[in-house]
Amino acid sequence: MVRRISLVAFAGCCVALAAWASQAGGPAKGKTFLKGNLHTHSLWSDGDDFPEMIADWYKSHGYDFLALTEHNVIATGTKWVDAASNKTREVAVEKVAKRFGPDWLEKRVEKNRPQVRLKTLEEVKAKVEEPGKFILVQGEEITHKFGKLPVHMNAINLASVIRPADGASVSETITVNVRQVNEQKAKTGREIIAFLNHPNYNWGVSADDMTQAEELKYFEVYNGHPGTNQNGDKERPGCERLWDMVISRRFKANRPAPLLGMATDDSHNYHVRSMKSPTPGRGWVMVRAESLEPAALARAMRDGDFYASTGVSLAGLAYAGKVLSLEVRPEPGITYTTTFHATMKDAGPDGIGVVVSTVEGAKAAYEFKGTELYVRAKVTSSKPHPNPSYAGEVECAWTQPQRP
Ligand SMILES: [Zn+2]
Ligand SMILES: [Zn+2]
Repeated sequence: MVRRISLVAFAGCCVALAAWASQAGGPAKGKTFLKGNLHTHSLWSDGDDFPEMIADWYKSHGYDFLALTEHNVIATGTKWVDAASNKTREVAVEKVAKRFGPDWLEKRVEKNRPQVRLKTLEEVKAKVEEPGKFILVQGEEITHKFGKLPVHMNAINLASVIRPADGASVSETITVNVRQVNEQKAKTGREIIAFLNHPNYNWGVSADDMTQAEELKYFEVYNGHPGTNQNGDKERPGCERLWDMVISRRFKANRPAPLLGMATDDSHNYHVRSMKSPTPGRGWVMVRAESLEPAALARAMRDGDFYASTGVSLAGLAYAGKVLSLEVRPEPGITYTTTFHATMKDAGPDGIGVVVSTVEGAKAAYEFKGTELYVRAKVTSSKPHPNPSYAGEVECAWTQPQRP
């Protein structure tokens, strides 16, 4: 099943939203919102399923693209894993044989231990990709730390593995690794996206760190792993709050560096369904691209033409004539509330990311007054998340911050 969302329904607003692009340009002709998860782990690192099974899950659940992002490794070369080291592994081996046939996995016995060979990305692609319907994008989770503080970043559509580089602080660790990605980008001519993962995981990355790491262009405003302190705690801000703090600080200091928000699964566990486990299907991006190809997806993200979602789907999203507007693709019996969050140019510490307008219903618009540093929209639905990562979670969507 493939989700294709046409812009025709939203033809009234004819300028595609490109939060940080030049804003010039006509209708987003032929562009469609494509659904993808950009943060996934398999047996190539610390996930508990075979990459082809994971790809098959996303493909059969309406996703258009998936990036497998293992810790400091990409799925090339030969890798054998134990086939019976624990119950979960036995189940995984049984399931892959059932889905792809008893001869699909290559087997051997090494020191009396039965083993199976993991398929490379190329092998998985050959098995599950369908042009125009579902693709895999090469990725890596550049997994590092400064002292004890984790600094994890995903590189999407990269050509070869990037080994994490050291920095003299958290922000510098982010910066030097974004630079490594940018160097590979320049060298290969590929459009590669690098984003910061789960800033609140072990409270590794603060708003100050992200503000200072000016080359950082994207971060996970939503990560479906329940161990990443998504919503902060009594003393520390949640990821959405961090976002407003960083954008406001950067703009106040006249540093126009953008920070765009991603939603991802960070899925590791595929054989259980529990709020306590990082399972698939929680958060994703909807990218308005001209075609289902890694380069086209990366270009659209570079231009800010995407939104983050945990279930809410948009039929339209536009910025034209100083009006930021969106339209939800409504589900029967579900209600939607759009809040527009802004920081005004003269705002004090209490005015960071405040709600400047609330609109009920499937359509919402905000007209800029010219006094805003930026405005972003969040749609909150009344629908409980079918696979929540925290108690009481409902489906949402976040659009990118827009400057007047
Ligand atoms: Zn991580
Ligand atoms: Zn991860």
